[in-house]
This record gives sequence, C-alpha cells and structure tokens, in this order.
Amino acid sequence: MKQIYLDNSATTQVDDSVLNAMLPYFKDEYANAHSLHSQGQSAHNAIEDARQVVAEFFGCHSGEIIFTSGATESNNLAIQGVVKNLLKQNQEIHIITSSIEHASVLEVFKNFEKNKNISVSYAPVSEQGIVDVQKLQKLIQPNTVLISVMYANNEVGSIQPIQEIAQLVEKARKQRQEKDLPLYFHVDAVQAVNYLECNVAELGCDLMSISGHKIYAPKGVGALFVKTDVKIKPIQYGGSQESNLRSGTSNVPCIVGLAKALAIVNQDKKENIQKVKKIKDKIEKELLKFENVRLNGAGENQLPNIINVSFKNAEGESILMLLDMEGIAVSTGSACASGALEPSHVLTAMGVEPQWAHGSIRISLGKYNSEVEVPVLIKALEKTIKKLRDIAP
Ligand code: PMP
Repeated sequence: MKQIYLDNSATTQVDDSVLNAMLPYFKDEYANAHSLHSQGQSAHNAIEDARQVVAEFFGCHSGEIIFTSGATESNNLAIQGVVKNLLKQNQEIHIITSSIEHASVLEVFKNFEKNKNISVSYAPVSEQGIVDVQKLQKLIQPNTVLISVMYANNEVGSIQPIQEIAQLVEKARKQRQEKDLPLYFHVDAVQAVNYLECNVAELGCDLMSISGHKIYAPKGVGALFVKTDVKIKPIQYGGSQESNLRSGTSNVPCIVGLAKALAIVNQDKKENIQKVKKIKDKIEKELLKFENVRLNGAGENQLPNIINVSFKNAEGESILMLLDMEGIAVSTGSACASGALEPSHVLTAMGVEPQWAHGSIRISLGKYNSEVEVPVLIKALEKTIKKLRDIAP
C-alpha cells in the first residue's frame, strides 16, 4: 500500500541535501568540537559556520544563537532562563503567555504557578485562534518580565500578531517606572520557519525558538536566538559550551544539518508556500462538501500547510486509526489524558464546542506532498466518516 504522509507539523522527512551535509560529521570528522587538536578545531569551525548561517536566517549576530536539542529545550531555556535570572526573594515577578501554546511553553508556565514569587497570566484567543492583543495589553503589569507567544499554532496553524505584540512590549518598556526591571518578548517560531518571515529585528522579539525536525533537518537539534542585551541563566550545568548557556558536547552533524535546512528554507520558501497552499485549497474545497463538517482556525491568518477539520459524530482518534489503515498519516489535537479523552486545549480556548472538538483531525502538508494525494485522501475520508457515523450511537 502506498503511504501518504500528512503529518508534517509533527515532523518532517530529512532532506537529502541536509543528510549529505551531515554525513561527513558522523564518520570522518567526528572529533569533539571542544577538543583543542586540529580535528577538534575543524569540527568547531563547522559549528561556527553553521551558527553564521542560522544567524543570517534570523537576521542577527552569530553570538546571539545558542544551539540546543530542539524547541522543547529552547523554550525551556528561554522562559526558565529569563525567570531564573530575575527571581529574587520577596519580590514577585509576572509572566504572560497565550492559552494556545505548545506544551513545552504551557507546562513551564504551569509549573511556575506553584512558585509564590511568580504570578502567571494566560492571554485568550479569538475563534480563529489568534491572540487578542487588546486583552493581552491589559494583562501587562509593572512587574511583568516576560511575554511568550508562539508565531504560528501547531494544531490549527493560526498566525499570531507578533509585530503588534512587540510594539506593545516596547510601549510598556518605555512607560515602566522601574527601569531596571526588563520586559522580554519570546516567540516559539517552530511552525512558522518554513513559511513566514523570521527576521528577529523586523518582528521585534528578544528570544526565538526553532526546531530542526520541522524543517527537514533531523530530530534532536534546535536553536534559540537570545538578543545580546537579554540576560538569561542556564538551566543545565556542565562543560560550559554555547557561551556557558547550554552545557553538553555539541551535536556537530545535527547542527550542520540544521544550518543546511535553514539555507534550503530560504531558497525554496516561495515555491513551497505556493505548492502546499495549492494542495491545501484543493483539500479544503473537497472537505467542505462533507456533511456536518467545519474548518477550525481557517482564514487569512493561517499557515499554508495546516488544515484542522472537525466532523460531527465521528471521533478524531477513530478517524486517525481508520485513515492509518488506508496508509494515510494524519494527527489529532486531542490528548488521551488519564484514560479520558480530553478535547484539545487549543480548540477549547478557541471556543470550539466539545462535540466538534472531539471530531477534529489535523492534516499538515509539507514539500514532499503532491496534488495526486488529494483524491486518495478524500476517498479514504469519505469511507471513514461514513463508517464511523453509521456506528455512532
Ligand atoms: N513548539 C511547537 C509549536 C511545536 O510544534 C513543537 C513540536 N511539536 C515544539 C515546540 C517542540 O519541539 P521539539 O520537538 O523540537 O522539542
């Protein structure tokens, strides 16, 4: 059976050029980049060249790029790093995020709720899954030190008003009485990198996280942009690598792969946007012919590769399983928490009623998908939905 992969927001296939760029660093140039001998220095140079490429992608200085093991670590380092640096006894600090963040941001915030010196706020979103900037503005306090908002949501693809939020942050900084207390803006750009502009100066952010495996590089590598004047503390200790902010022997092949992947993203962005958008439009047109169907987060401000669709009277997990039996991989936002099926926190925050949220699946496209897959998907979905609705109580 031919496999159709429509789960590119979960992870992507490694690009051949990325793999080829990485290969020498597994077998021939395997030295530790922190060793002083010339083989080590050659590996070190490969990392510094990669850092330069990543910095060019973000439009920043190479010294502002920290390599990590992925976006979970980048997000943790950004948020915990800022908080750790500013947390003092007997002084409360306040941090804000949105209600639709990835778990690697939300769970960090939830954990900080337990600390009596930290207060936490969650900005609401619209029905389209877009952060309400005015409501966010009202949340900013004189002691707010960090705002973390994702660039584009991983479940519904909604694109957030990053520049507008950056302007708010700038305004709040200017109005701040206590000039010594900073206010930083962190952006989780994981899902945006393939399709949106990521120049940090134009976006106006202070920290930005990305992940390799969403952009055709391998799993287990990521980066964090940290603006020069932003102070963070490390969250792991050891050999003081990455400017003492991320200890651990550097993953040379994957760092080289990440840089190569970003160079390819820049080169092929326009073409890939057009390609996935065309497939997305075709799928959506066909989906809207189904009965009792709705598209979640759809509209102008949505990534060109993500479709989140809900079918009434059909469970998302069951749809996923039956499509899987047809060789088609999609995903669902619902999480099977403690045996009970919880609807996705993103759809819930958008006000999607449970009967719709439970029947949702995410179809996420990538550069290796093609239009010929559309009729195969639609046929399989028709069969699947009919089957599930026929047996629905
Ligand atoms: N943020 C977002 C928006 C994501 O989609 C993901 C991956 N699902 C992550 C963070 C975590 O990235 P990683 O897998 O590299 O830890």
